[in-house]
Amino acid sequence: MRILVVEDAVDLAEAIMMRFGRTGHALDHAASAAEAEDYVRHQEYDLLILDINLPDKDGFTVLRGIRAAGITTPVLVLTARAEIEDRISALDYGADDYVVKPFDFRELEARARALLRRRQGIASGATVHGNLTFDRAGAKITVADRTMVLPNREFRVLEVFLGNLGRVLTKAEIVSQVYGFDDAPGPNAIELYVARLRKKLQGSSLAIRTRRGLGYVAELVA
Ligand code: CA
Repeated sequence: MRILVVEDAVDLAEAIMMRFGRTGHALDHAASAAEAEDYVRHQEYDLLILDINLPDKDGFTVLRGIRAAGITTPVLVLTARAEIEDRISALDYGADDYVVKPFDFRELEARARALLRRRQGIASGATVHGNLTFDRAGAKITVADRTMVLPNREFRVLEVFLGNLGRVLTKAEIVSQVYGFDDAPGPNAIELYVARLRKKLQGSSLAIRTRRGLGYVAELVA
């Protein structure tokens, strides 16, 4: 999943990026409204974490612009304003949820997780695909009776495949879901993750097939 953090307070932005980076998500950072609008025009995101008090325009303006452009990406608003009117405005302008500063990072993460799950149309933390169980909250998978905790990036690559069953994905598409602009690796990294995943998925209902010259397609097998 790819997340854009829009926050001009550098310390806070870095702390958020660090927390979410640890869970293996791709992250980009915008320090102003103009930068955020630029990112959103060029890249599709699965979640926006949007501060309301920005140096150039307020976050409400960014939010209205995004929704007016037909972009449906979930938006989690950060507001330092405790007034009920501001929170209502955020929701009226099309935010999906909000957190009032100062917040506990665990709350921010839990709310972000809920929005990302909703984005995938999944109601609970775990999904079952034949004999494969994919447990988001626990960051682990179970194949038949074997439970494995996957390293973050491997887990996110598998998440991308499960969200796109039967669809051919290029390596570049996978990279854009798992890495931000600043830490994007070469396509070889994806080959490596796929090789590791295949090993762990042996005997499971999920097969990741290579489409030569195109990329990969994940399919459920009987
Ligand atoms: Ca701010």
